[in-house]
Amino acid sequence: MLAALLYGAEDLRLEERDLPELAAGEVLLKVGAATTCGTDLKVWRRGGHAKMLKPPTLFGHEAAGQIWALGEGVTGWQLGDRVVANNSAPCFNCFFCQKQEYSLCANLSFNNGTFAEYLRVPAAIVRHNMLPVPPHLPDAVAAMTEPLACVLHGAARSNVQPGDRVVMLGDGAIGLMFVAALARLGAEVYLFGGSTARLQIGERLGAVQIFNHHKIADIPGLVKRFTDGWGADLVVEATGSPQVWELAIACARPGATVNLFGGCPRDSRISLNTEQLHYSELTLKGVFHSTPQYVRSALELLASRELPFELLISEQRPLCDLEQVFQDMKARRVVKVAMLP
Ligand SMILES: [Zn+2]
Ligand SMILES: [Zn+2]
Repeated sequence: MLAALLYGAEDLRLEERDLPELAAGEVLLKVGAATTCGTDLKVWRRGGHAKMLKPPTLFGHEAAGQIWALGEGVTGWQLGDRVVANNSAPCFNCFFCQKQEYSLCANLSFNNGTFAEYLRVPAAIVRHNMLPVPPHLPDAVAAMTEPLACVLHGAARSNVQPGDRVVMLGDGAIGLMFVAALARLGAEVYLFGGSTARLQIGERLGAVQIFNHHKIADIPGLVKRFTDGWGADLVVEATGSPQVWELAIACARPGATVNLFGGCPRDSRISLNTEQLHYSELTLKGVFHSTPQYVRSALELLASRELPFELLISEQRPLCDLEQVFQDMKARRVVKVAMLP
């Protein structure tokens, strides 16, 4: 099979590989569509990821497709079933899983390799995080279950109330999905980003106002102007830059929640004004990844077609274009791309 391997920073190669052998409980998918993700771009640029993978490795983590082969003991599925397989599953057994804090599972093992003709799905994912795709839902849209699950998890942990004024920092796919998720919960979302085209998608997903940060010298000052001088009720950061984490905190009103969602480069540090944290009673939250509950609600939301998430897919491209697609993502010419093997 043709498969992409990541060897290091900006070193992605398409290679001919043997079909993966299946152990008991595993499933082999014929990939229908694999969507690119901001995390993939980060990992490609940095040459690795602390939790997800170490090169050389199969690459890509969002996919939907058809079951091509079943490992020993797999029940409840048939060859040809259309499914979406999340990129991880918790163990349901460790210290954190026993506390139902599944995104912190100590044994969360990540599956990579969606940029390929076939994808091996480990037994834990088959058991807990592989779901049937409804007939009318295209693979490319179903493949976005994983990032949307992370966003729904992030939104649920943001203490958002109907009518809250929310500052969303970042117009990547995750930031745009957050706009949709928070607007759906009744928040007024003010989206800040760097690309007019992406900001316009944000508007269609429910942002009440969009701002190009290149044109604004003082973002916290602007936020205060449209929040009666106080700052936002909730700020969500989805860029993964330490400076933007600090900016997010600066945009918050007293009593606000700041959801620091974008993972920064390893060993990053930010500085905090302790007086603001204390006297303004800020809640600073890191939120990571998703849980099986949100994987299910993400697929349901995509399948409902209530929101036009397909706008996030800029293009569909053949797998052989993968290198060029990453260059296009780096240049921010595309949001997500559906790779078709
Ligand atoms: Zn992703
Ligand atoms: Zn666990």
